[in-house]
Amino acid sequence: LIQREDFLHALENDIKPAFGASAEALEHCLSRGIIVWGTAVSSILTDGELLIKQTVAAESSGFVSVLLEGPPNSGKTALAAEIAKRSDFPFIKVCSPADMVGFSESAKCLTLRKIFDDAYRSQLSCILVDNIERLIDYGPIGPRYSNLMLQALLVLLKNEPPKGKKLLVLCTSSERQILKDLKILSAFTSVLHVPNLSEIDHVLSVLEQSDVFNKKELALVAQKLRNNQIFVGIKKLLALIDMVKQVEDDYKVVTFLTKLEEEGEDY
Ligand code: ATP
Ligand code: MG
Repeated sequence: LIQREDFLHALENDIKPAFGASAEALEHCLSRGIIVWGTAVSSILTDGELLIKQTVAAESSGFVSVLLEGPPNSGKTALAAEIAKRSDFPFIKVCSPADMVGFSESAKCLTLRKIFDDAYRSQLSCILVDNIERLIDYGPIGPRYSNLMLQALLVLLKNEPPKGKKLLVLCTSSERQILKDLKILSAFTSVLHVPNLSEIDHVLSVLEQSDVFNKKELALVAQKLRNNQIFVGIKKLLALIDMVKQVEDDYKVVTFLTKLEEEGEDY
């Protein structure tokens, strides 16, 4: 005998909703989880929670758009994905330029438009538009960008969803100044800055949580870092840690310090 509980069980466990692919897309952005390496991270997540609440609140307009901006590799996409995940909205969609490689301008425009149209039909939705400078095809040499995409994005950021529908739009970018020049920045409800790691304690807290050095090595790293300028994105730091894990024990610390220093020099 099939009962109501069986249906509920199947809904919970067996049936992947049509937007199940979005859950995978989110997990992909969050491949290495979120390490809270400093107060900057926790305050971005707290702000994210507030913006989720603002979207849902009965008295609000039901439309909130957020830009997460910061240097390359600082963790913008992962933090946006984490906020999207925490919203737990029934409709979550990721729009990434990586999925649109080779698309014509108009095909990109239609894809973006379709995502928003689908969201407008849902009661509560969240859209993550990743890397918007790439979406508008911005290139520093020239400089150039797609005006069609820029206008499309602006319209979508300025138009409220139909009455009664709630929509949270999360965008990421590492080109704050460009967005400002193109008048996109002012279209957002809220802008959150995602910084690089800039203090010894930030790096140490990532190292402690990633199980690469023993206590003695950690102490040595801490001591050696004291004279260094630190400026590294979380994505770079995690990649560096992966690399150091492959190095022979005797050279781990020195390899780490050298590479970390080189990282800071690029800026
Ligand atoms: P890009 O400039 O190339 O777009 P990005 O700033 O979007 O890079 P992510 O792609 O989000 O950076 O990479 C961050 C990686 O670090 C992810 O794999 C994520 O799981 C991991 N990570 C760990 N801790 C954090 C954190 N506190 N914040 C963000 N990402 C984190
Ligand atoms: Mg990114």
